[in-house]
Amino acid sequence: MSIMSLHLETPLLASDPLSTAGQRVWLKLEALQPSGSFKLRGIGHACDQHAAQGARRLLSSSGGNAGLAVAYAGRQLGLPVLVVVPESTAEWPRTLLRRYGAELVVHGRSWMEANEHLLSLRQPGDAFIHPFDDPLLWQGHATMIHEAARQGPKPDAVVLSVGGGGLMCGVLQGMADVGWQDVPLVAVETEGAASLQAAVQAGQLVTLDAITSIATSLGARRVSEAAFDWTRRHPVISTTVSDAAALQACLDLEREHRWVVEPACGAALAAASQRALPVLQRAAQVLVIVCGGVCTPYTELQRLAARLGLP
Ligand SMILES: *Cc1c(COP(=O)(O)O)cnc(C)c1O
Repeated sequence: MSIMSLHLETPLLASDPLSTAGQRVWLKLEALQPSGSFKLRGIGHACDQHAAQGARRLLSSSGGNAGLAVAYAGRQLGLPVLVVVPESTAEWPRTLLRRYGAELVVHGRSWMEANEHLLSLRQPGDAFIHPFDDPLLWQGHATMIHEAARQGPKPDAVVLSVGGGGLMCGVLQGMADVGWQDVPLVAVETEGAASLQAAVQAGQLVTLDAITSIATSLGARRVSEAAFDWTRRHPVISTTVSDAAALQACLDLEREHRWVVEPACGAALAAASQRALPVLQRAAQVLVIVCGGVCTPYTELQRLAARLGLP
C-alpha cells in the first residue's frame, strides 16, 4: 500500500498573456502531472484503493491519457497492468504505455471491440479501471479544487473540458467541498464531440452517432449519468468551440507559456480566451483547468494545423 498519493500537487499560475485589464485568468496546471494529464488524480486514487483491497492486476481499454495513468499508477504500486487498445491508437501513446511497463494488446477496429476483448481476458483479482464513470475517480479529481482553493482566490467562473464527464464530476464535487456551490462552471466540448451539450439540449442522455472532432480525448459518444445529473444541481453552462479554435489555443499556449497540450485541453483554453459567454465577460477571476494530455506532441499539433488550414 502506498503512503503518498500518486499525483503531484500542481501550481496555480496567474497567466499574464491570458488575462486582461479587468480579468485575471488562473491556470491549474494539470498538464504537469507525471502521466501528463489530470487523469492521474482520479485514476491514481482508484488504483491505490484497488491495490489496498488486494487487486493483483489493473486493466484498462484506453489508448489515451486514462490508459497512461493506469500504466503509471500500476508501475508505482508494483502491480502488472494490461491495456487493450484498438488498431487506431497512435504510435506515440503505444510507446509510452510500453515504456511504463504495461502489457499492451492491440485488438479490433473500434474501442468497443478492444473493450470486449479486454473483458474476455479478465481474471479473478483483476481491477478494471473506467476512464471517467467511477466515484473513486471523482474523489481523486476533486483534490485539484481543494488545492486551488488554498492557492488562489475564489473564482467567478471555472472553465474545463468535457469528454465523458469524469473531470467535470470531480471538479463539481471539489467545488461543493470548498463552498464554491454558487460559482458557475463552463463546460467546454468541441463541435463533433459535444455529447454533454446534446444531453443538456435534449433534457436527457444522448448517444452521438459518431465523434468527428480532432479532440479525441473528448470523444465519449455519451456522457455519464452522474455528469448529466450535475447540470440540474449546479449552474453549468455547456458550450462548444471549433476544432480550429481548440488547436489555435494549444499553439498559443505553447508560444506564450511553452507547454504542449492536446486539443482536448485547448477547448477549455479557447472558450476562456474567446470570452464569448456573458459569465466570462463579467468575471474578475477565472479558473481554467489545464487538463493536459500527451497524445499530440508538438509536431502533431503542427500537422493538424496544416490540415485545418491554420496560418
Ligand atoms: C480524459 C481527458 C479529458 C476529458 O475528461 P472526461 O473525464 O472524460 O470528461 C479532457 N482532456 C484530456 C487531456 C483528457 O485526457
